[in-house]
Amino acid sequence: MNRFEVIIVGGGLAGLTSAIHLALKGRSVCLFEKEAYPHHKVCGEYISNEIVPYLQHLGIFLEANGAKTINILELSTVKGESLRLELPLGGKGISRYAFDHLLFERAKALGVAFVFQTVRFINYQENTFQVGTNKSVYSAQAVIGSYGKRDLLDKRLKRSFMQKKSTWLGVKCHYVYDDFPEDEVALHNFVGGYGGLSKTETNAVNFCYLASYETFKRYKNIHQFNKEVVSRNPFLGSFLEKAIPIFDEPMTIAQISFDRKEVVENHILMCGDAAGLIHPLCGNGMAMAIHSAKIATELLIRYFQEEGFDRILLEKEYRKQWNSAFANRLRTGKYLQSLLLSESFSRVAMTTAARSSWLLRKLVTQTHGKPIVC
Ligand SMILES: Cc1cc2nc3c(=O)[nH]c(=O)nc-3n(C[C@H](O)[C@H](O)[C@H](O)COP(=O)(O)OP(=O)(O)OC[C@H]3O[C@@H](n4cnc5c(N)ncnc54)[C@H](O)[C@@H]3O)c2cc1C
Repeated sequence: MNRFEVIIVGGGLAGLTSAIHLALKGRSVCLFEKEAYPHHKVCGEYISNEIVPYLQHLGIFLEANGAKTINILELSTVKGESLRLELPLGGKGISRYAFDHLLFERAKALGVAFVFQTVRFINYQENTFQVGTNKSVYSAQAVIGSYGKRDLLDKRLKRSFMQKKSTWLGVKCHYVYDDFPEDEVALHNFVGGYGGLSKTETNAVNFCYLASYETFKRYKNIHQFNKEVVSRNPFLGSFLEKAIPIFDEPMTIAQISFDRKEVVENHILMCGDAAGLIHPLCGNGMAMAIHSAKIATELLIRYFQEEGFDRILLEKEYRKQWNSAFANRLRTGKYLQSLLLSESFSRVAMTTAARSSWLLRKLVTQTHGKPIVC
């Protein structure tokens, strides 16, 4: 039987969280994911504590699975001026390899059906969705689109952000570097980008950065770029000199778009990066992905249980709640990224921030949510 109440397309943090929540509420769920678990993903791997109560409510315990507790933020400019700050809420350091796998195991144990195939189309007709791969077609009353930043499905859906060029590149590698403190996340600036460092559950240090394609294209490869651009920041230079890479080669993703997206597209409730991506310097994309899944899931449960709460109301309410939770954060993130990438501005901003830890704390708070109440 290929019929379900809900089909979820994409099993990253948003999709898996929603699958667990729906299964706990007794709904029939099928999740499509194109990769086998576990797998690495390009991500800074620092997750804000705001989602911890919700994850615990779903039976997911990050610290019990080795996640590091992080409460210090270190920032530095291209030239190495730096400051340290105690984070208002703090977060956890855990690899996506471990985190996504943990959620997958929980979803599987709760009876979620998994199909490890790439979804090629999602059609909607007469109150029903058809979701197709190269091998089969499934149907459902509702679809959550949680397939990440960019996919061929976006092209099929003619989403407007696909028309624009996306000029950002993401790079990630794990390293052995015992000197890095486990309670810290560091954000270091370099010309045309910035990189984050934090420890994961294996004690490996994750170094993940975002670079503008414009700056990167002048260099032949990641190694040369690391040597000639990234390492000019003295903190990153010293790290890259001493740290031992664990991956054979760094992982990369291109065409990262921070443009506005529609939250509901052809009646699909978009969650996580498929609904909107915050600039990674905020260290908040994972928490937003999980939070957006919570919002969509709770509304879907109402849709199935409450007479009169029809598809029109469901979609209207999802748009409203999504915007109220995230629109301001996205705006602040965009503003902060433009400041950080302007060398002169970032120096002035850093000096000002260094003099006022109140201001810096306010900026961090503005890009994060409050702990999610369950
Ligand atoms: C460089 C960089 C650094 C970052 N650092 C941080 C950080 O430190 N902290 C933080 O909180 N956030 C960070 N983020 C953001 C964070 O990684 C994302 O917001 C988060 O991964 C979003 O989760 P998601 O579930 O929406 O998407 P994803 O985790 O990308 O999951 C989407 C899933 O869908 C699957 N999929 C895609 N297409 C299909 C298809 N057609 N059929 C079936 N499956 C499909 C993919 O295989 C994938 O598993 C960073 C982002 C970048 C780019």
